[in-house]
Amino acid sequence: MSIGRLEFHPAATQQSGQQQPGVLFVSVAHQSRPLIQSGSISSEAPEFTSYERGTIEGAMRAFASNTCIRFVQRSNERDFISIVSKQGCWAELGRTGGMQEVSLNRGGCVYGGVVQHELIHALGFNHEQTRSDRDNYVRINWQNIIQQSAYNFQKQDTNNLNTPYDYSSIMHYGRDAFAVAPGRETITPIPNPNVQIGQRQGMSSWDIKRINLLYRC
Ligand SMILES: [Zn+2]
Repeated sequence: MSIGRLEFHPAATQQSGQQQPGVLFVSVAHQSRPLIQSGSISSEAPEFTSYERGTIEGAMRAFASNTCIRFVQRSNERDFISIVSKQGCWAELGRTGGMQEVSLNRGGCVYGGVVQHELIHALGFNHEQTRSDRDNYVRINWQNIIQQSAYNFQKQDTNNLNTPYDYSSIMHYGRDAFAVAPGRETITPIPNPNVQIGQRQGMSSWDIKRINLLYRC
């Protein structure tokens, strides 16, 4: 179920970033249906300042408040997430086995909404605009997309869990994500092009609902 890295912050990908291997371990442990589970942050995280760690932990608490996902500190779990500051903001999709990294570049990714977004990838969710039914809700303007990033816009055979397409999802790209030039729209909502997309404030109510459905909370 892996389709490789899911990247979404074009600005951050231009940073050279710290390339230290990760030392911020979170583990995964969930009762009912482990795609991947939970984790809180261990004390060994020299890569991140205490303020940054606070931001990451705050994002993890949003899951605890709204879903049955609990991020707990890793002890000896075989499968776990390692949060690192590499180039860009990215995560692998769902549980991959062993250590899997979530990259939160210190120069552009350590914001609550961005952290939530990447952790939701690790929980198994794609970008909203790659949903199987997206063509009814958005138009992808391929000519405006940076070619090397076009894979981020490929439609996926997603399990939509009987939930509606959600423009307000934290997993939805903004309208100029990976644009060849500023102001060139890569995604246009249809039929109403003025609908807002791309918020990174926090999980939408449908984001929360989906996590709870997938994990049978
Ligand atoms: Zn993403």
